[in-house]
Amino acid sequence: MNKIISLSILLTLLSLGLKSQIGCGTVPPTVDSLSLLNPQAKALPLNNATIQLYFHIIRKSNGNDNNSISAYDAVQAFFGLAPIYNPQNICFVLLGIDYVDENDYYNDFDFSNASNASLISQNVTSNAIDVYIVPNSNSGIQGIAAGGIPGRAVIIQKQAMTNGKNIFSHELGHCLGLYHTFETQFCSENISTSPCGVGNNNSNSCGDLVCDTPADNNGSYNSSNCSYTGGGGYNPLVNNIMSYYDGCLSQFTTGQGERMLDVIANTQLLLDRLTPANTTIIQTTFPIINGPPQCNNPFPPNFCPPPIHNLIVIGKSKVSTLGAVIVNPYNPINNPFQYTTSIGFVSETEIELLPGFEAKQGVKFAAVISSACPASVNFRSNNSSSQNYIDEFFDQESMSTNTNSLLTDISKVNNISESSIFNIVPNPNNGSFKLTLNNFNELPKSITVCDAQGKEVKSILNPTDYEYMFNLNELHNGLYIINAFYNDKTVSKRFIIN
Ligand SMILES: [Zn+2]
Repeated sequence: MNKIISLSILLTLLSLGLKSQIGCGTVPPTVDSLSLLNPQAKALPLNNATIQLYFHIIRKSNGNDNNSISAYDAVQAFFGLAPIYNPQNICFVLLGIDYVDENDYYNDFDFSNASNASLISQNVTSNAIDVYIVPNSNSGIQGIAAGGIPGRAVIIQKQAMTNGKNIFSHELGHCLGLYHTFETQFCSENISTSPCGVGNNNSNSCGDLVCDTPADNNGSYNSSNCSYTGGGGYNPLVNNIMSYYDGCLSQFTTGQGERMLDVIANTQLLLDRLTPANTTIIQTTFPIINGPPQCNNPFPPNFCPPPIHNLIVIGKSKVSTLGAVIVNPYNPINNPFQYTTSIGFVSETEIELLPGFEAKQGVKFAAVISSACPASVNFRSNNSSSQNYIDEFFDQESMSTNTNSLLTDISKVNNISESSIFNIVPNPNNGSFKLTLNNFNELPKSITVCDAQGKEVKSILNPTDYEYMFNLNELHNGLYIINAFYNDKTVSKRFIIN
């Protein structure tokens, strides 16, 4: 066993010596965790998953951060995950950023086993993959899934987070159970044109254990056009995130996405790191950077930090922007340093803006709700002191069958107090409550009640009154959302049955 590990490390080191190779220090296990499971006891792969991350930035013992990654750059690297992982129905939420102040980790981190083990024992979270970002070092290792495959920890150099080469995505792929496309730990993958598992096609049980990644010998390649030049009959995916073709890493295969969702479903330490279903994610530590945001480039992937202090997203997202606000400079040409930004995010059920939320005049606020129950969405703000805020009011700019794209221009939003829209009394309730529609000159076209999963549980078409008694005592306890659909707007409010 030791021989195999040593050989693997040797191969890794040898490959590091080649020009333009990813410097990944991740070492495969001796046995694949999925293959250890009794097939009958194995959980089905998840349909989608939202994994929580926590960033730990390494600084000097005295807090000096001259060579550390900035929170701004770290968040940019976080946003870089979305286009890679979204297509695989895997999403990430950044729970927060903190600091590990220790010279031993700050000065030329050596990525030795002892250093790795020591670092990933700092500031450990129980509900997120810990990402430790060290300053640039002379180690040949750019990053490592230091908790193994699958695992709960990544250590990565600052340069690998900021050089746009998707090495961060690569290391997280290891955390979620992926091996290198050229892996030989279990057995070598044959070059074969037969279907997976047929004839000499052993790609389901050898190599990286994924069928749709062709055999890869990690050979030579042309980095200018990302083409394989290594010959030998191989035709590897030079653009694959789990390959070593430095500068070309851009996507996963469908099979890799499915394997990640399979590994997550069958790995408790990863299940522990999913966003809790239909519970609240509080972005209390979303980094707020003092001073003007540094928008050197007007459009994504660069962005300005948002003027947001507290953001809550309720419900599980299918898209990686859940909880993490994607911010684009709104008017970068004329006002590059103003907090005039667009923010957008996605949830299935509800987005709530907590006290402390601030949105300045002129900010565009956009959200996409993906849900079986149309417009089961609720924008709220309880921050009555804010000069401009959103309060259960938004315009529907466009709507399709199963997706509501909602956009509101905060500059047009009046300060409508909650009670002026409608009341639910009592709230919480036992399922019996009175709904009162206030201060509208028109009746809604319909009223619906949805559960937190977006399933419609009650609807009233063409209501004729401004007051309705609901008796929903048969429903389970939990969070519900009531929507009133008008011609030009939808008003939503949540309530609790207990
Ligand atoms: Zn790797």
